[in-house]
Amino acid sequence: MKTIIEPFKIKSVEPIHFSDEAYRIQALKRAFYNPFLIPSDDVMIDLLTDSGTSAMSSAQWAGIMMGDESYAGSPSFYRFEKSVKDITKMDFVIPTHQGRAAEKILFSILGGKDRVVISNTLFDTTRANIEYSGADGVDLICEEGKHPAIPAPFKGNIDTEALKKYIATHGTEHIAMVIITVTNNSGGGQPVSMANIRETQAICRQHNIRFYIDACRFAENAYFIQQREAGYKDKSILEIANEMFSYADGCTMSAKKDAFGNIGGFLALNDEKLATECRNLLVITEGFPTYGGLAGRDLEALAIGLKEILEPSYLQYRIRSIEYLTEKLLAAGVPVMVPAGGHAVYLDAKAFLPHIPQDQYPGQALVCALYTKGGIRGVEIGSLMFGKYDEQGKLIPAGLELVRLAIPRRVYTQSHIDYVGEVIIEVFEGRNAIKGLKIIEIAPLLRHFTAKLDLLS
Ligand SMILES: *Cc1c(COP(=O)(O)O)cnc(C)c1O
Repeated sequence: MKTIIEPFKIKSVEPIHFSDEAYRIQALKRAFYNPFLIPSDDVMIDLLTDSGTSAMSSAQWAGIMMGDESYAGSPSFYRFEKSVKDITKMDFVIPTHQGRAAEKILFSILGGKDRVVISNTLFDTTRANIEYSGADGVDLICEEGKHPAIPAPFKGNIDTEALKKYIATHGTEHIAMVIITVTNNSGGGQPVSMANIRETQAICRQHNIRFYIDACRFAENAYFIQQREAGYKDKSILEIANEMFSYADGCTMSAKKDAFGNIGGFLALNDEKLATECRNLLVITEGFPTYGGLAGRDLEALAIGLKEILEPSYLQYRIRSIEYLTEKLLAAGVPVMVPAGGHAVYLDAKAFLPHIPQDQYPGQALVCALYTKGGIRGVEIGSLMFGKYDEQGKLIPAGLELVRLAIPRRVYTQSHIDYVGEVIIEVFEGRNAIKGLKIIEIAPLLRHFTAKLDLLS
């Protein structure tokens, strides 16, 4: 088989600012060992997130000029709405400025004290919005999803036996909804199978529980279903997406992921009464229902992006580039989550840095080492992001200590990815010299964004 090439050529370029290790050591110190606090000009390859970092296509940029900025009833909204409906077939489409704004609205209505939201794994903003409403989030990831080194085709699946058991033990009264994240961002970008979605919906329907999808990476998930699940090989990405959404009562989506947007999000719902309540909140926090938190030009770019994401050659290249980096790392013995996920490579920091205990944040230590060595910015998904404390103030560590290197869509070429692999392997070879960290300042919610840390001597 020949090399799978980038299915695009480059019309407009941005310079990368080169720096040396001595400079980056200082930059990291100034940022309190938290790469979120590093100015992006000081980063060479930015793998902090694939959110809002996509390269838009020339068609999307043309759409930006076509955007209609009418306050009410803009044709750009109707085009956006049509793109969302073509994919989700849901009746009510509510635009928001980001995914979390959709979450905030939804959980303000369905969340609240004594309520729980059950998921395969809640993303950090989703969990924060649930908890902020007074509700609790419960993650029931399948057993395969708990073992980074053991491959399985659908490690993002929710544990349906655990879900049934939860219902049997606690009843259904407090359950606000079940929401499945596709692909499972916080659990390695691993896909969820159609069978799992179908079964979860059946359980929910039987018990009269709402079933939602966190749809940020629906197209990447659909591609995995097409490649890996029996019966889907000859179905198009759109057909698979249609089926996925057909089981759900609604979805939230960050259009900064699989819609190639630099900003945007939406809520799509089948329940008219709930949609009315959501729109009532929308107008006080985001804007009028035909623009939400977005400009007409954004809606136009997203309407086009939602069509482009369904292209088979794009998805093949996309998933292959993640797999390519994963294979390079595996060949060098680097502990990396397998199989490769949809949007990111996840390093297993516990296995990478076994000499650093979890209360010294091995994931964050690895993130810092990658920046120092190669100017690469990743993000910790472990005890810094998800850790809690017991009554004595002792850390209750996260289940996994991962470092996520998220690949922006259509931004980096194969040589950038090769460079990333080389830097990781170099850091791996010098891993014994890497030291742990301690927290010196931390916020109560979404704590990893602003945390300040210091090196342990
Ligand atoms: C990014 C993301 C969100 C939140 O979306 P924003 O646009 O960043 O507010 C929610 N869920 C998942 C799975 C995400 O990846």
